[in-house]
Amino acid sequence: MNYYSLNREAPNTTFKEAVIKGLAPDKGLYFPESITPLPVDFFKNIDQLSYNEIAFEAIKQFVSPDIPEAVLKTIVEETLSFNFPVVNLNNNISTLELFHGPTMAFKDVGARFMARCLGYFNKDNSNEVTVLVATSGDTGGAVANGFLDVKGVNVVILYPSGKVSEIQEKQLTTLGKNITALEVDGVFDDCQDMVKQAFLDPELNHYKQLTSANSINVARWLPQLFYFIFAYKELHNTYNDIVFSVPSGNFGNICAGMMAQQLGLPIKHFIAANNLNNSVTDYLETQEYKPKKSIQTISNAMDVGNPSNLVRIQEIYSNFLDLKANMSSFSFTDQATSDAVKEIYDNYNYVADPHGAVGYLGCKAYLAKNPNAHCVFLETAHPTKFLDVVEDVIKEKQPLPKQIEAVMGKEKVSIKINNYSELKEFLLKN
Ligand SMILES: *Cc1c(COP(=O)(O)O)cnc(C)c1O
Repeated sequence: MNYYSLNREAPNTTFKEAVIKGLAPDKGLYFPESITPLPVDFFKNIDQLSYNEIAFEAIKQFVSPDIPEAVLKTIVEETLSFNFPVVNLNNNISTLELFHGPTMAFKDVGARFMARCLGYFNKDNSNEVTVLVATSGDTGGAVANGFLDVKGVNVVILYPSGKVSEIQEKQLTTLGKNITALEVDGVFDDCQDMVKQAFLDPELNHYKQLTSANSINVARWLPQLFYFIFAYKELHNTYNDIVFSVPSGNFGNICAGMMAQQLGLPIKHFIAANNLNNSVTDYLETQEYKPKKSIQTISNAMDVGNPSNLVRIQEIYSNFLDLKANMSSFSFTDQATSDAVKEIYDNYNYVADPHGAVGYLGCKAYLAKNPNAHCVFLETAHPTKFLDVVEDVIKEKQPLPKQIEAVMGKEKVSIKINNYSELKEFLLKN
């Protein structure tokens, strides 16, 4: 598969180059040149397919021929080494738990898949890369864990000192080896700005092959389409009219769901569930897109004012009315979110995290007008990653899962930096 830049001022390129570069030279996001639907039989016989077989068939066209089939089989198996349970709350609402990976965030799948692709591309030591990421929390841990020990890949994570939770900090500062954590005296936006400056620095890019590991990168974005097919497999014999409510920040996850739909998955509708960062909710109402400054909320992984993947969504639905027919967007306050955590606990004895709770609210808003649908909200993080909010609302202590416990006892190692020139000096020396 070749990829083109959505800014359309850069040459088309292979999957391999798109992964190594991250962003096209004209700063556009890469998008596949074509999408061939899977055979009708694939969906008809889905009950007979394993998750590994489903994932392999669904992603094959996007990575071929750069990743040979035998290698892809191994990458898929290693990526999906944990469960993706669907939990039924009632006749109209289920949740798909995406938090059973090593860092208990849904970003584990994309990070693990991308890491293994880069590892394969560097198999003869010809493609050494530095993955540079800024994190406000979950991305750092998932990327650190996913890329640990991958040959030829050095990972540098910038995080704002004192602004991530203790669990999140431990997840990104305790691994060592090819993972370095840079602790920035500032806020998330400072980290993000420094990373952007690094990608635009000609001198740095002359010496280093830098790439990104957020959902801009096609190898982190596309594997997320698996989730939607997995949930369909679990639910299609029981429910018609399956819709997905996706807690959205950069809109990578929901956009991957739309790719699954393009492959032929019978999804009736998408709901973009948002906190008060509502640029897309407004866009669907007014047809006019205005990026906003991000607002801090209790579902902080979705505090994004200018979602990077909206351009991919607009590419899939080039007609605004088609987009509107296929996607609704709702925005919810922190109060509504914590009330939802309580409601889900009281009514269904289920503990949701604040991001999942926003997804649940998205389901309820959609079902109010479409009572016959079955809505699946994605649970994107384990509730103990947001202990302060969750325990405060449900008034009950939560046990720490083993993945989290294992990391809490380890010692933090980070390098403090204050500005871009210190970042550049670090990158040039290492
Ligand atoms: C990253 C993240 C999201 C948002 O996902 P996007 O693909 O950026 O829309 C939602 N919930 C959690 C817990 C996350 O870490």
